Amino acid sequence: MSVTDRPAGPGRLAGASDELIAAAVDQAALGALLPALAHVTGDRGLVPVHLRPNPDDFMDPQGGLSPEQLDEARTLAAAALRGLRDGVRTRVAEPPVDDEPLRPLAAHIVGDAHVDAYLPLLLEELAPEGVDRRAPGWHKDEVAPGTDFRVGIVGAGMSGLLAAHRLRQVGVEVVVFEKNHEVGGTWFDNTYPGCRVDVPNHLYSYSFAHTTWPQHFSDQATLLDYFRDFATDTGVRDHVRFGTEVLGATWSDDTRTWTVDVRATGGDEDAAVETVEVNALVSAVGQLNRPHLPELPGIEDFAGPWFHSARWDHTVDLTGKRVAVVGTGASAAQFIPAVAEQAAHLVVFQRTPNWLAPTPDYHDDVEPETAWLQAALPEYADWYRLWLFWRMHEGLTSAAVVDPEWDQSATGSVSLLNEMVRLGLVEYLEEQFAGHPDLLEQVVPTYPPIAKRIVRDNGIWARTLTADHVHLVTDAVEAVTPTGVRAGGVEHDVDVIVYGTGFTASEFLAPMHLTGRGGVDLHEQWDGDARAYLGLTVPRFPNLFLLYGPNTNIVINGSIIFFSECEVRYLTECVHLLLSEGHRALDCRPQVHEAFGRRVDEANATMAWGASSVNSWYKNARGRVSQNWPFPLLEYWQLTQAPDPADYELT
Ligand code: NAP
Repeated sequence: MSVTDRPAGPGRLAGASDELIAAAVDQAALGALLPALAHVTGDRGLVPVHLRPNPDDFMDPQGGLSPEQLDEARTLAAAALRGLRDGVRTRVAEPPVDDEPLRPLAAHIVGDAHVDAYLPLLLEELAPEGVDRRAPGWHKDEVAPGTDFRVGIVGAGMSGLLAAHRLRQVGVEVVVFEKNHEVGGTWFDNTYPGCRVDVPNHLYSYSFAHTTWPQHFSDQATLLDYFRDFATDTGVRDHVRFGTEVLGATWSDDTRTWTVDVRATGGDEDAAVETVEVNALVSAVGQLNRPHLPELPGIEDFAGPWFHSARWDHTVDLTGKRVAVVGTGASAAQFIPAVAEQAAHLVVFQRTPNWLAPTPDYHDDVEPETAWLQAALPEYADWYRLWLFWRMHEGLTSAAVVDPEWDQSATGSVSLLNEMVRLGLVEYLEEQFAGHPDLLEQVVPTYPPIAKRIVRDNGIWARTLTADHVHLVTDAVEAVTPTGVRAGGVEHDVDVIVYGTGFTASEFLAPMHLTGRGGVDLHEQWDGDARAYLGLTVPRFPNLFLLYGPNTNIVINGSIIFFSECEVRYLTECVHLLLSEGHRALDCRPQVHEAFGRRVDEANATMAWGASSVNSWYKNARGRVSQNWPFPLLEYWQLTQAPDPADYELT
């Protein structure tokens, strides 16, 4: 699992036939394979400028290389691989002492215009030679020997595990409270059929814990295994208190500590509450943690089984049943096709259609030849990650930026680029629903692309909705009756109802009660509009850090793990600031917090997700975009390198 767990040394290519090499090269992303080979051999001739992909062509899987360029690149790559196999070429014996040799290799992917600004970030993502470049560069024993400092972490999902690992690396004691009996967070809770990651897996993984992924977009069980293994391999598992729910926490200005109230999960009101004292508290509860059920009249009266997608009831056999699904978001789009395979009759209640991103390999295993290449040449997997990182990051959001001169009333798009994307996506829907004009009318969104999350599709959505036993209803759901769902005045009798209706995303940290300085309650201070400086810190709540907090979500550009790694670096550097300077607490200055909030709001208003009035979980009850980060990822990375002491009141 870790980057150091690689097949040993030279000879990994030994025995590979020319045919295997050719087949693997045929399938490879050449924009990643050539830099990987240049990295391994030290031969910069393997990344000639005339074979560089277009760093801004995110649509073409090979970055816009022409057939001739592809031929030449493949010939070059296959010859280099054969050369390595035959010992004609050799691996560079020592890792480079500085990053300069890697610059032209990174430029091969991102172009000369971007490489200077991005190189350090890119090399962290690449983790060349298996080096974890985001590992903290300090240890408590050196900066504050003998000082006790304990951090409580709420949640053992992706970000909580990461925080615990990093803090343990610097010698800080951690205790992780997890309400479930296993780690994994969202990958533990969501067991609905068809659940899989919708970010390519080679990117959706910790930068320092690459692994071999069996699928391009792995399923829930594979992801859960990854996080389980991570918890075990890093030793973090031993510091998790499973089955423990955090009810709240109170800050004391006298002791400069948080007193955390915990109770066994599911315990009744009278069950004993235990208190645990920590110096800092980290919320790693995620944004998509607590299921949202719609406030529909009669929802409790339905006579048959009903449940939410994140609490899937596997005791209910859907085979041959009449099933209703309410909601068609990213979760429902994954489980509706699986339910359709079992149900005798399926009614899908859609309020807002999705834009679909054509993703032919969405459900596919990694091809055997590609899997072989990634194992035989792990640097290819590394550079492939970087390739994905670049192609899925900054560039994509340019299509979400609102052009104030653009006439939005015509098609709903927000700029010429957004309109071009829209036309491409409409074309895809037209292809998919050819011969079904009524359905097509129902599934083409009227809001701009990137105002909501775009759902990946390999053709399964149209195959499902056009099946004879599947019925799409776009009338508003009015009520649930004992026998089914009423929409548009029509009763749809069913045996089972599944709600794919999302999460109470903008109710950050609910239902925990946090009491900060002077007895202030966090939820009262927020008053329904959660905000945090950098998504991380809140004035009057010293030493409280939120991971995946307000305004740190991304709509289409990349992996949320990138954000967590930035946040956790900031957290560990805050702890460093406290320990190295002998402080006990840091409290974000209100004016810093407010100025940040204003900037974020102004920027979100200029993005498709802020400008559009379409329903989305990105906005809170006040209509503010409380979830999304509107700036480049590079900026978040820069801002979270370390805290600026001037931003905090240090005590
Ligand atoms: P969601 O995007 O909030 O979707 C909820 C769905 O329920 C929407 O279709 C919504 O309609 C509908 N809905 C809510 N209340 C309704 C009502 N009263 N009547 C009718 N329909 C109603 O939630 P989600 O699908 O669980 O996805 C949430 C996020 O989780 C995603 O955006 C994504 O970031 C993440 N996710 C990721 C993956 C992955 O990586 N594999 C998978 C699933 C989810 P409206 O659109 O009109 O509000």
